[in-house]
Amino acid sequence: MKIIGKLVADGFRDLLNLFYPNPCLLCRNTLQSQEQLVCTACRLELPETGQHRGEALVSGQLRFAGKVPVDFVYAYLYFNKKGKTQRLIHALKYRTMKEVGSVLGRWYGYQLKTDIRLNDQVDLIVGVPLHPAKLRQRGYNQSDWFAQGLSETLEIPWSDRALVRNLYTISQTGKDRIERWHNVNNVFGIGDPDLVANKRILLVDDVLTTGATLEACTATLLAANSQSVGIVTLAATR
Ligand SMILES: [Zn+2]
Repeated sequence: MKIIGKLVADGFRDLLNLFYPNPCLLCRNTLQSQEQLVCTACRLELPETGQHRGEALVSGQLRFAGKVPVDFVYAYLYFNKKGKTQRLIHALKYRTMKEVGSVLGRWYGYQLKTDIRLNDQVDLIVGVPLHPAKLRQRGYNQSDWFAQGLSETLEIPWSDRALVRNLYTISQTGKDRIERWHNVNNVFGIGDPDLVANKRILLVDDVLTTGATLEACTATLLAANSQSVGIVTLAATR
């Protein structure tokens, strides 16, 4: 029923778009034909971190210090409660607007390519897999849509088969760090060893908070002989 409801909602939105021009997702002003999702004024106001240009790069990396070796950690946008980023992520995750992921991925991919030539440092883009139950419920993995957008402008292949997520859930309550680590460490596995062995992986997620999930994915990839792992997220808390 949920899936049918979603299809109807998607179809209805497409139909609406035929008759009514798209409003900006953030300010509701009508979009011009060359604008996507958000108007130019709102786009200029997005709280970009600029981390890939060297500002505040450390704060992202510190969360991984001494745990697993990560080449770099870049987040596209800062996440503020009730701010623009939160609204975009909400649309991406809970309003079936997958295109938010791909559009933002293309925008950030373009910056990563022109500013620091990240495309020369990565062989494969891999999204953090969703828990199978959540994937069934949502119908898509929002991180994969962000990965696809990045892949388009960076011109690097992406895969949703490289990493898999097992049925365990990450429980963080009342456990010490070591116990949590073992718990988290069983969550991910490798879907196709040939895809990741000796490759420089760009690991992609929607929001960077504690980093526990990204840590577990990185450890899994390195254990499968990936050459290196760098991380890009759509957003990060300050
Ligand atoms: Zn706007």
